[in-house]
Amino acid sequence: MRLSYSSINTYETCPAKYRFQYEERLPTAPSPALSFGDSLHRALHRFHARPVPIAPSLGELLETLDEVWVSDGYADQAEEAAYREHARQVLAQYHRENAEAYRIPAALEFRFEIEVEGVTLSGVIDRMDRIPGGGYEIIDYKTNRRLPPRERVERDLQLSIYHLAAREVWGIEPERLTLYYLLPGQRMTTARTRAHIDELRRRVATVAERIAAGRFEPKQNPLCDWCAFRPRCPLFRHAYERQEGDPAPRMTAVVDEWISLKRRTREIARRLEELAPLIHAFCEEHGYRRLFGSDGAAVDRRPQHVTEPVDERVRGILEPLGLWDRVVSVDPEKLSALIESRILPPEVEDALLASRREVRTRHALVLREAERAAERPGG
Ligand code: SF4
Repeated sequence: MRLSYSSINTYETCPAKYRFQYEERLPTAPSPALSFGDSLHRALHRFHARPVPIAPSLGELLETLDEVWVSDGYADQAEEAAYREHARQVLAQYHRENAEAYRIPAALEFRFEIEVEGVTLSGVIDRMDRIPGGGYEIIDYKTNRRLPPRERVERDLQLSIYHLAAREVWGIEPERLTLYYLLPGQRMTTARTRAHIDELRRRVATVAERIAAGRFEPKQNPLCDWCAFRPRCPLFRHAYERQEGDPAPRMTAVVDEWISLKRRTREIARRLEELAPLIHAFCEEHGYRRLFGSDGAAVDRRPQHVTEPVDERVRGILEPLGLWDRVVSVDPEKLSALIESRILPPEVEDALLASRREVRTRHALVLREAERAAERPGG
C-alpha cells in the first residue's frame, strides 16, 4: 500500500473523504486557496534554487511569482488580482526576513519514498538547510492564515515523516523541524524523539489496517463545509439530490413526521422538568405524597435510599461471590465515543475494537436541526 502525509491526514479526518479522493479518485475543482499556495511554493522554490549564496532581489522574486503564477480556480479576474497582490505582500515580507541570511539549501523539493510498517510512504520536503554551527533544519511552507496550537505542531505527523525520511534517506537526524507559516510570517520549530517515531509507526499501521479492511465511514468534522465530495457523501448527498427533485417523497413525509415527534418529545420533556419541582415543592410544603388531577394523579415518590456509585467496597463484597459482573457492564455508546475520540493510543484502540466483547453502538436516529448543508448544497 502507498500512503503519504496528505492521504493519512485525510483518512484520519474522514475515512469517507479518503475513499472519494484516493480510492475512487473523484475529480475535484481547483480552488483559489490551492492555486495561491501552489504559486507561493513555486516562487519560493525558484528563489532558493541558486548555485550562489546571494539572494535574488525582491524585484526578481516578484517577477518569478508572475512567471509561476497558477491562475486556476479563481471566480473572476478581480478575485485573482486580489490573491496575487496578497501573494506579493507575503513574498515581500519573506524577502525582508530571509534575504540577509540567504544560503544555499542542503535540499530543495526533495521527493522521497520510505517503507514504514509495510507501507510505502512518499512525500516532498520543501527545503532542508544546514544550521550554522552544525546540524540540519527541515522547513515546510504553510499557507494557513493562522498558527496552529503548539501541541498540534508537537504531534504533527508530517514533521515526524520528514524526520524519519531524513534518517532513512540521508542517515541524519535533523535537529530542527520547522513549519514556516508564510502569511503571518512566523516559524514554528520543533524536534522529534524516538517516541514520536514510534507513534508515527503506530498511526501508519492503524490507518493502513483500516483502509485494507475497507473501513470508510464518513466522519463529520469542521472541514465538511469545504469538502468537495459533499454531493457524494452519505451525510449530505440526500440534500443535494433533493435539489434536483425529491427522490423519495414518501420518505420525506416519514422523516418530517419523525422530526415533528422528536421536537414534541423534547418540548414535553422540557415542560415535565418545569412542572415536577412545582409538584414536589407543593407536596413537601403541605405534607402530600400524591396530588390528584382531573384524570389521574402525580405521586411524589421520595428517595427511599441513596447508594453511592459502584465503588471498591461494593466490588470487595460482590467479587468473592462471583457477582461483580452482574452489576458492572460496558456502556457501548460511551465506549464507542471513547474510541472515536482519538485520545487513545492506536494499539489500545485496536485492542478494544478487537476485544471479545461486542463493541458497537446501537442504531440511533439523531435529530439535527436544519443546517447550511441542507439549505445550501451548492455552498
Ligand atoms: S462532507 Fe465531511 S463527512 Fe462527508 S466526506 Fe466530506 S469530510 Fe467526510
